[in-house]
This record gives sequence, C-alpha cells and structure tokens, in this order.
Amino acid sequence: MDFSVDESPAAKALGPLFKLTEVHLWDDGSSEEAESSHVQESTTGYGTTSGKGKGSGRINQRRPAEIADYMPDSTRGSEEEESRSPASVLNNSETLDQSDTLKNEIVAEIGCLPGASALSNEHEHDGEALKLEYKDHLGVPVEIPSSISKYWLQRYLLFSRFDNGIKMDEEGWFSVTPEILAKHHAERCGRGSVVDLFTGVGGNAIQFAQWSRHVIAIDIDPIKIDYARHNAALYGVGERIDFIKGDSFSLAPKLKADVVFCSPPWGGPGYSKVTKFDINTMLKPRDGKSLFDAGRRIAPKIVMFLPKNVDINQLAELSLSALPPWYLEVEKNYLNGILKTVTAYFCDPSSSL
Ligand code: ADP
Repeated sequence: MDFSVDESPAAKALGPLFKLTEVHLWDDGSSEEAESSHVQESTTGYGTTSGKGKGSGRINQRRPAEIADYMPDSTRGSEEEESRSPASVLNNSETLDQSDTLKNEIVAEIGCLPGASALSNEHEHDGEALKLEYKDHLGVPVEIPSSISKYWLQRYLLFSRFDNGIKMDEEGWFSVTPEILAKHHAERCGRGSVVDLFTGVGGNAIQFAQWSRHVIAIDIDPIKIDYARHNAALYGVGERIDFIKGDSFSLAPKLKADVVFCSPPWGGPGYSKVTKFDINTMLKPRDGKSLFDAGRRIAPKIVMFLPKNVDINQLAELSLSALPPWYLEVEKNYLNGILKTVTAYFCDPSSSL
C-alpha cells in the first residue's frame, strides 16, 4: 500500500493532525515465547519523515519464512491466498505431490509443520500422508473442516494458549486478530478502560484485559460471547472483562470509556478484490461514519481495525467530520514483513490522552 498524502485531499486538509505510521511485528507462531518478538515502528507525518524505533533490531531471526507469511491477507478469508496457503495445499490430496517442496520448505524453516506437535502420531509430517486431524486438550479427536484448515494451521499465531482448550466457531477463525497484533493494539490503547465493540471469540479483549484497567466486550452473537468468556478464562483474565451480548450501536449511548476498539465485519472476502476498501459501502452492519459517531459517544479515542486496502482519504474524512477535527494516525500493520491490515487511531484533540 503506497500512499502519499497528496492523493488524499482530506489527509492534506488535516495537516499536522494526520500521520501515517508502520508497525512491524514478528512472531514464531508457536508459543507464548512470542515475547521474543520485536516491534519496530516508523512514522511519516504530513510533510515530514522520521523514524521512531521502539527496539534495536529484529530479535527472532531464526525463521525467515514464518507461518504468518502464509496467512490470508488481513487474516481474513481471501481466495487469492488459497494458492499459497500450506493448509489449502495439504488439504487437497490431488495436489499433495506438488506440495512436497513447500512442505519441505516449511519443515526446513521451522523444524516442523505448524502445529505438528499437536497432531496424533499417525499424522506426523513424515513425508507421507498428512491429514488434519487433531486431538483437543482432553485427548478427544477433532475433525478440522476443510474451510478452516488453513486457519487451524495458524492457531498458535491466533492464540498462543490454543492447546489449553480455546473455543472458536467457523466465523471466529476468519476474524480473530493474531495474538501479537492484539497485544500491540492493547499497548497502544493504554492502561485505562476499553470497550471492544465486536469482540468475536475474544482475541483482542483478552489482550486488553492484560493491559488495561477494565474491559467491556460486546458481541451480538451469544455463541461468540460464550466462547470469548471461556477463552478469557484460559488466559486468567475472565474476571477483568464484562461481557455483554448485544448490538453495539444500540449500546453505544449507554457506555463510557477511555478508548473504544472496533474490529467490525468487513463484509466477507470481497474486501480483498477491490483496489480500495470503501468504508461507506463495504463495512457491516453500518458504514464507517455510523461507526465513528457511535465510537465518539463512548470515548475520546477510537481505534478501528481495517483491511489493508482501506481508503485512507475516507478515514481522514471521518476525522474532518468532527468539530474540531480529530487527530488521525493510520498505522500499517506488517506481520513478518508482509502488510496485513491497517489500524486507524482517531483522537479528540480536546481530550487529555
Ligand atoms: P469479519 O469476519 O469480517 O471479522 P464478522 O462477521 O465475523 O466479521 O463480525 C465480527 C464480529 O462482530 C462477529 O463476532 C459478529 O457477531 C459481531 N457483530 C456483528 N454485528 C454486530 C453488532 N451490531 N453488534 C455487536 N457485534 C456485532
């Protein structure tokens, strides 16, 4: 995503209130030792360029081709990714031969196939047949539906404690934020109170709870709330989150917090097929402006987690729609060197944050 503020009249109009940043996250995708992951940030303010390194260099160098390299763009369903996902290859017996090279590359890079330790013996990666069968934390065999097999191979990237008994429904697999990115969001959102408007199975809420004073996690789907509550307990943070089953837009006027976090539905895999993701027509269940206005009722700081091809001019227009205009930081999120998503941070200039 190349971007120049000159292409965006709204970003230009925001002037010094607008900035474009990047965060580069690396993860070994296998355990909580993601602590070794390194965060590097750079900032391009309007009209200027400057670096603001948060660390001194990449720590985890041992896996140049890591699991996230195979993640679907933005971690959500994308057909274009099918061709390079190890899961999609492994899942298709007709292409097993063609997959050998890729499979061997993965094994050479990371010592095993993602998740191999959790596979039952008969399915270990011995160069023979590979089937996605899994025994859960109670030892009960679980069949992995083909639709989620590629996400399942990345399960430790999504939840480092996956083997403790994490619960996901099919939609949850497509939409959960990778843990290292959720951690980054939590750090960025600070120590105060956070409302998570579309909590899903809890990937972000769990990280907020480890970082902030109080978390309110909302989802309209009761199953998601059940799973999020269960998953939060596995991380020992269940007590620090108030879970609410309900419509975020209806609840917004009744809520107050320091920060509101929104990872709204992107409207299905179609988002990746357009040059620019239009927040006025493609976000669900309501458009970007409705989301921004709902967020403003809750907090002076709004964080939106969006596709990498989001129209930055439209984000800047949201900032301009407030009087006075809000600060906007558009942060490009790279996982293992690949641009995956964008996080937009809006802030009321009259707040003390
Ligand atoms: P995506 O796959 O693009 O992330 P989803 O359709 O999975 O999007 O939606 C993300 C989450 O938002 C889901 O858990 C869904 O139940 C929840 N959600 C959708 N609409 C609302 C709403 N109005 N209020 C609260 N949660 C909602």
